[in-house]
Amino acid sequence: MDYLNASYRYVDELLPSIEDLNSDFLSTDFLTVEGFDFLDISWFHFFHVWLFLFMSSFILIALSHIYYKTYPEVSEGLIKGKRVLIVIAHPDDECMFFGPTIVNLTKKSGVDVHLMCLSEGNYYGDGDIRSRELLSSCQELGIPLSNIRLFSNGHLPDDPLVDWDPEIVASLISWHVEAMAMDTLLTFDDRGVSGHRNHIAISRSVNVLLSENRLPSSCKCYALKSESIFLKYTGFLIVFLKRKHSNVYVSSHTDHKTIKNAMSKHASQYVWFRKLFVTFSSYCYLNTLVCPQI
Ligand SMILES: [Zn+2]
Repeated sequence: MDYLNASYRYVDELLPSIEDLNSDFLSTDFLTVEGFDFLDISWFHFFHVWLFLFMSSFILIALSHIYYKTYPEVSEGLIKGKRVLIVIAHPDDECMFFGPTIVNLTKKSGVDVHLMCLSEGNYYGDGDIRSRELLSSCQELGIPLSNIRLFSNGHLPDDPLVDWDPEIVASLISWHVEAMAMDTLLTFDDRGVSGHRNHIAISRSVNVLLSENRLPSSCKCYALKSESIFLKYTGFLIVFLKRKHSNVYVSSHTDHKTIKNAMSKHASQYVWFRKLFVTFSSYCYLNTLVCPQI
C-alpha cells in the first residue's frame, strides 16, 4: 500500500496546478517541443497531405473499377450440396452477414436454399414488422417464401443478454435437417460474426449436434468465419485480399446491389449506420466458410 500511495503522490506532483491550467498550461508554448511548432502547418505539409489523399482516392477508385469488372462470375465456394439450410438468429442476418453466399447459391441451378430464422427480432417490440421485412428481403435474395421457417419462441428471445438453451436450438435444427432432407447446414462460427449471444448460441448448438452425432452423416456443416476487426470493415478491398482462397463466396457488383436492395427491405432497421455497414462491411462482399472444429 505504501508503494501505491507513493505512486499517487508522484502523479499528483506531475499534474499542473489550477493556476497553471488558467495560464501557462493552455498557452501555445505548451505545443512547442524542441523547436518544432505543431501549429505551424506550412503549405509544404499541406501539399503532402493533399497528395496522400489524392493518391489514396485514385488507388481506391482504380481498385473498385477492377472489382466491378473482374467479378461477374459465380463463386464455386465450398458447398457442393443441393439442399442447403442456413440458420440465422434475427431478420436481417441473412443479408448483413450471409449475403454473398446466398446470392451465389441461389444463382446455381439445382441448388435449393432454405432459411431458418430463430426469432422475429422482437427486441424493440416490432417483431411483426421485421417478420414481413424478412420475407421481402429473402425474395430479393432469391429464396422462395416456401423455403423460409421463421420462429417465434418464448425460449428464444431476440436479446443480446440472453443465452439461448443449446438443447432447444439443437433439437429444432436437427428436426428440420432430417424432415427436409438437408445435405448442407450453414450458420455462424463460435464468435458469432458480430459477437451477438444469439448468434453464438446457434454455433454452440451445432457443435452439440456434431459432437453427439445427431445429424445425418450425409449432411455437411459449415460456419461463416468471423473476420478480424481489421478485415471486417475493408469493404470491397477484402475481395483483393482473399479472392484466391477456395473457401470464399464473392459478391459481384450486381450481387452487392442485390444485397443492398435486400437490406433496404428491412426498412425498420435501415438507419444511417446500417447503410454505412452495407457499404463498408466486408461481409457484404465476401464470405469465408470454415468447417466447425469439434
Ligand atoms: Zn443477428
